[in-house]
Amino acid sequence: MRFANKTAVVTGAATGIGAATALAFGAEGAQVVLADINQAALDECVAEIQADGGKALAVQADVSRSSQVQRMVDAAVEAFGGIDCLVASAGIQTYGTVVSTDEDIWDRTLAINAKGVYLAAKYCIPQMVKGGGGAIVNVASVQGLFSQPNVAAYSASKGAVIAMTRTMALDHAADKIRANSLCPGSVDTPMLRDSAQLFSPSDPGGAIEDWGGLHALGRVAQPAEMAQVALFLCSEAASFITGAAIVADGGLTIRI
Ligand code: NAD
Repeated sequence: MRFANKTAVVTGAATGIGAATALAFGAEGAQVVLADINQAALDECVAEIQADGGKALAVQADVSRSSQVQRMVDAAVEAFGGIDCLVASAGIQTYGTVVSTDEDIWDRTLAINAKGVYLAAKYCIPQMVKGGGGAIVNVASVQGLFSQPNVAAYSASKGAVIAMTRTMALDHAADKIRANSLCPGSVDTPMLRDSAQLFSPSDPGGAIEDWGGLHALGRVAQPAEMAQVALFLCSEAASFITGAAIVADGGLTIRI
């Protein structure tokens, strides 16, 4: 039970990597605050954690809205007395070049993927300071480090997360807060399945298999594999890791 008596806030916790991370925290003894816009799926995750004997609270919150993120933090503190860990996983995938990306898509992508990470940290960090320290994992992407065509806004948002995480790590090291970004390759989540449906409506499963083939390990990741990296980064085992962009991509980016 690596996280007994610790409180972990997970954004984007209704599905995918966020949900897997929330479940993993619950299984490791943490009190988990799950935030997302998708209340129904949040409730299912909370029920799953509670059915296993864990403590969990769902908070419907849009991470791009300051007042809703503040409410999430207030609810966490009221329920569990403080915040020790934050995994910011909420995000959306959008497609387009700088020319074809409409301004509203640009604004929405940056608002959720980058501003959402800023807001979560902005309101969680003071609580971590009160508690004597903490750990933050911001879910970025290999697309913040390298690129592929047609993801102008998404890659900009993920690059912003990686750069902001380095700054967070410097600004709050003295507060005993570590901050790292997690850069997955392809992960089998609703986000990836939506993309597969978009690009290959007649055979989305085949598209996911093809994308898996681009990874050295020959497959896409499962969300639970990303959750384990996030938990490691939040744990004492990662006590000397901060400001890093941890690539967990099954070898997607090592090929030249
Ligand atoms: P997902 O769509 O399953 O999960 C994203 C979650 O974020 C959803 O539950 C969604 O409801 C929530 N969300 C969206 N907008 C929100 C908002 N405004 N406020 C609160 N919650 C919101 O996708 P996922 O693959 O689990 O994505 C999690 C993170 O991992 C994202 O930041 C994504 O960019 C990143 N990522 C995913 C992959 C992949 O291949 N799946 C690869 C690299 C990085």
